[in-house]
Amino acid sequence: MPAEITEEQFRQEAVEFLEANAKVKEEEQKFVWGEGDDKVALFDEKSRERELEELAEAQEWRAKKYDAGFAWITGPKEYGGRELPSAYERIWNSLEAKYDVPSASFFGIGLGMVAPTILAHAVPEVKERYLPKMYRGDIVGCQLFSEPGAGSDLASLQTRAVRDGDEWIVNGQKVWTSGAHYSDIGEIICRTDPDQPKHKGLTGFVVDMHAPGVEVRPLRQMTGGASFNEVFFNDVRVPDDHRLGDVNQGWTVALTTLMNERASIGGGGAGLGGGIANATRLGEMLRHFGLQNDATYRQELVKVYIAFQVAKFTNQRAMDKIKAGELPGPEMSIAKLSLTNNMWATAQLVARILGPRITADTGEWGTFAWNQFVLGISGMRVAGGTDEVMKNIVGERVLGLPKDPGIDSTTPFRDLKVGTQTSPV
Ligand SMILES: Cc1cc2nc3c(=O)[nH]c(=O)nc-3n(C[C@H](O)[C@H](O)[C@H](O)COP(=O)(O)OP(=O)(O)OC[C@H]3O[C@@H](n4cnc5c(N)ncnc54)[C@H](O)[C@@H]3O)c2cc1C
Repeated sequence: MPAEITEEQFRQEAVEFLEANAKVKEEEQKFVWGEGDDKVALFDEKSRERELEELAEAQEWRAKKYDAGFAWITGPKEYGGRELPSAYERIWNSLEAKYDVPSASFFGIGLGMVAPTILAHAVPEVKERYLPKMYRGDIVGCQLFSEPGAGSDLASLQTRAVRDGDEWIVNGQKVWTSGAHYSDIGEIICRTDPDQPKHKGLTGFVVDMHAPGVEVRPLRQMTGGASFNEVFFNDVRVPDDHRLGDVNQGWTVALTTLMNERASIGGGGAGLGGGIANATRLGEMLRHFGLQNDATYRQELVKVYIAFQVAKFTNQRAMDKIKAGELPGPEMSIAKLSLTNNMWATAQLVARILGPRITADTGEWGTFAWNQFVLGISGMRVAGGTDEVMKNIVGERVLGLPKDPGIDSTTPFRDLKVGTQTSPV
């Protein structure tokens, strides 16, 4: 069935809205060493006050967009979407990128991972209750998966949910929860039957982050900020209608979220050209330190550039599959692995050029700022699946190597010795 509005009409409507509500970005300035911001941090870390101000600005912009029909272009109409083909979303994204609008990073996890899972697995009342508010930016969502003893091996998680009539009582601890401190709801995976094998006794829920018994404690990172949290659940009551999918089918729910996570990380940053570590910036750094004619540095710079380009095209293959409605295969893992390897190669090159300047803050432009890039890479290597886990996927699914022996899919969870489990759940 053809869309009610042509792409050209939509584009016109979008331009009118943007012109009326936002300012066009100033032309990208030509990079000049020593001018402008020298920030190259991988994690955007700010004070809590500034974070709240930016969140409010981002929410205001989302609400405006939503009310005008540009915040959930492909979503079903019954939950506030516009039900247009994804080509229309691409038109919107490319137009919006030309305007100076508040950061969308606060909504990355909620809209990129949690909302698609709610849409796929929640009951209609829960979809009605949360999806319009999430897409309007009125509420923010977080992902409550990892635990101290369950990260790569997520199915070893121990947070328990026990049924009590029409409710579930949740007890346990999650960790590394990005943005939990400003989130209103979370997608949580809990163990509901320890007598089943570890992947089979799990259930997903939508949990109210303001409910009694939810305690959020920030974790300080080595880069200085605190974007992640520990979240403790002490007898937190969750209504049964907030369950995602069937009881003990939470692994399928988790996989929906993880597929969306890898797609958003891999899709996010494999291009050196537009990224913070772009070739112009690195080339100018060589020139500034008088190394532009040194063959070894030049060779390293070109190697890094080529590696980013190769990753960009591999990533494009995965994105094209998603756009064509296919499930991405191991390309997603290759893209994620290449991204972190290439970031590391960049960091090594920069560290060679800068030497001790990267470790001491002397106020010299474009030098110590790279410290934030170098220190952030470890987090990137871990988030959304570690390098080693990505290598396992490539080994098994591309090279056909034997399966990782660590996956015990038949023993009841209660009988496994996992993570920090000290007593039977
Ligand atoms: C920036 C960032 C943001 C995050 N945000 C969130 C969030 O919002 N919500 C959330 O739930 N979690 C989040 N996480 C947590 C993240 O999902 C986990 O850190 C990740 O899954 C790894 O788990 P772990 O830290 O427990 O490490 P472990 O799984 O304990 O791994 C430790 C080491 O062992 C290696 N290893 C583990 N298993 C294998 C294997 N089978 N084969 C080979 N090597 C292996 C790993 O590669 C790693 O080097 C975030 C993490 C980071 C860094």
